[in-house]
Amino acid sequence: MLKKENKCSFCGTGEKQVKLFYGNNAFVCENCIATGQKLLEEQDKKRNIENLSPIDVKKPREIKEFLDQYVIGQDDAKRTLAVAVYNHFKRITYQKQDELNDVEIEKSNIIMVGATGTGKTLMARTIAKMLNVPFCIADATVLTEAGYVGEDVENILTRLLQAADYNIAAAERGIVFIDEIDKIARKSDNPSLTRDVSGEGVQQALLKLLEGAHVNVPPQGGRKHPDQKLITINTKNILFIAGGAFDGIEPRIASRLNTNTIGFVNVQADEVDKDNIIKYVAPQDLKSFGLIPEIVGRFPVVTSLNTLDREALRRILIEPKDALVKQYTKLLEIDNIKLIFDDGALDFVVDKAIEFKLGARGLRSILEAIMTDAMFELPSDQNSAKLHITVDYANKQLSGKVLKQLKSA
Ligand code: ADP
Repeated sequence: MLKKENKCSFCGTGEKQVKLFYGNNAFVCENCIATGQKLLEEQDKKRNIENLSPIDVKKPREIKEFLDQYVIGQDDAKRTLAVAVYNHFKRITYQKQDELNDVEIEKSNIIMVGATGTGKTLMARTIAKMLNVPFCIADATVLTEAGYVGEDVENILTRLLQAADYNIAAAERGIVFIDEIDKIARKSDNPSLTRDVSGEGVQQALLKLLEGAHVNVPPQGGRKHPDQKLITINTKNILFIAGGAFDGIEPRIASRLNTNTIGFVNVQADEVDKDNIIKYVAPQDLKSFGLIPEIVGRFPVVTSLNTLDREALRRILIEPKDALVKQYTKLLEIDNIKLIFDDGALDFVVDKAIEFKLGARGLRSILEAIMTDAMFELPSDQNSAKLHITVDYANKQLSGKVLKQLKSA
């Protein structure tokens, strides 16, 4: 007698109709296994959401005060960022409480324009630290359109997911910092002339993330391939902060302000701070620089950061909560060594950072070069109870080979 075909105990599909069929007395087919898997994932996600600690949304003034502890100067940018972040998290909370209300508050993604090393990343990182939400940095220069050599834009979300320890719900309210967004500006003014793999195409790909879509993300990063399991992330509540130096944007701003070398036509000459044109940056300048209108539209908040002057650099050395001099003091304190930094030595460090055009980022490498020898010797030297950094000492440590290295950094 012909053996009766086994059937799935859940949906009744016959054994021969599917590739994967499993069981002994009761049976399950591949479709029902997939359904079960999906249910498990949904349940996990629900549990994750329930377990999320509520975001402690601070008022803009408190956000700025928090930033003040870590970031020197940049008051305009801090205030703009504080309001945008406050509104963003208010939007998330409001949405949850009032889902029937049809007033949709728009997302307040932010673009920060300012020279390299002025604190753009630091600002975004500090905000994430304050809110205790997942944070990741993505470098726009390595991104390409799908199918081209380079990273797919989805990998940005992989990084966010990793920062959230694979808790999807947490990642879905994280902050992504996109660095060097200016580098994916359209190169030519005529968009249809040639294909611009690393420019406009990437901007188009990026749009998908910014638009608040469900994006399929490879959990381990890398290129998507057909049999890879993908995780779906909803980007609706992810805050995107982008930063860029936008070298050469000043003339565009100036010409929009309708200025020329003689004077300002539309704006009162004494109203415009000619040395700091960047602070008038507006969305249309970003468009004229080469960002496509759709991208500019997705970043409704635009702010700028000043180039740091001598005084700001000096304050950066000693004032922030985690200032470099405070860090070295702490490191040596652990070995019972007291660190004394002469004022003149601090000025020397700042002068070198300016001389080599290293900006704030250079302060660390200069200090490191000055301190390394002492940090190597002192812990084993029983007689040393203090380290006194004078201008002469700093100068000696920095001279020769090290100096050359710093210059080329
Ligand atoms: P950007 O993103 O603008 O290129 P970063 O935020 O990465 O610059 O700054 C590089 C480093 O320089 C920071 O890690 C920080 O140590 C220091 N720095 C830059 N700007 C500031 C600032 N305004 N206040 C305090 N530290 C700063």
